[in-house]
Amino acid sequence: MHNDIDHVLLDEGTILRRLDGMARDITRDYEGRMPTIVCILHGGIILMADLLRRVELPLLIETISVSSYHGGVESSGVITFHQKGLPDLKGKHVILLDDILDTGRTLAAISRRFTEEAGAASVKLCVLLRKVKDRACAVEADYVGFDIGDEFVVGYGLDYQGQYRNLPYIGVLKPEAISRLA
Ligand code: 5GP
Ligand code: MG
Repeated sequence: MHNDIDHVLLDEGTILRRLDGMARDITRDYEGRMPTIVCILHGGIILMADLLRRVELPLLIETISVSSYHGGVESSGVITFHQKGLPDLKGKHVILLDDILDTGRTLAAISRRFTEEAGAASVKLCVLLRKVKDRACAVEADYVGFDIGDEFVVGYGLDYQGQYRNLPYIGVLKPEAISRLA
């Protein structure tokens, strides 16, 4: 697994130190309220586990399963919701958690449905990574771990062909690993 990594972009210590700061911001912003955290599966699970243990608030956890990549290294542009319904978010203050903000399509589609269909009182967006690029959808994240360049990364929840999510760091794959698993 580690042999497939060309270089590490963000090591585990750097990520966890940044999560301390993000958790402090969330704790401060939601003081006196009980936010509902909605984790986007599967990419957001490692972030959720590490971030939420640092947030000092009563909170609720929900998950939602969508996909946009369908196996490749480029966003397909089509967001598929894997379940029929939405979580019960009526009147709730929602923080939507995802691994990465890329084209913006995923977070735009989900936050629109949460507000318009599920009746959330507010929706904020929290991502570990934000790619610096022009986005297909104008989406602003409220909590961002790190800005990175426009390249395909894996680890810390992010996969390639379903693998590498359990790497404790964010890294870039060797070209031969990409072609081997394609
Ligand atoms: P968006 O809808 O913003 O284009 O894409 C968001 C989703 O695409 C993320 O939740 C993530 O699953 C996937 N994605 C975007 N960029 C990357 C990347 O560099 N690496 C991996 N593994 N997935 C990515
Ligand atoms: Mg994802």
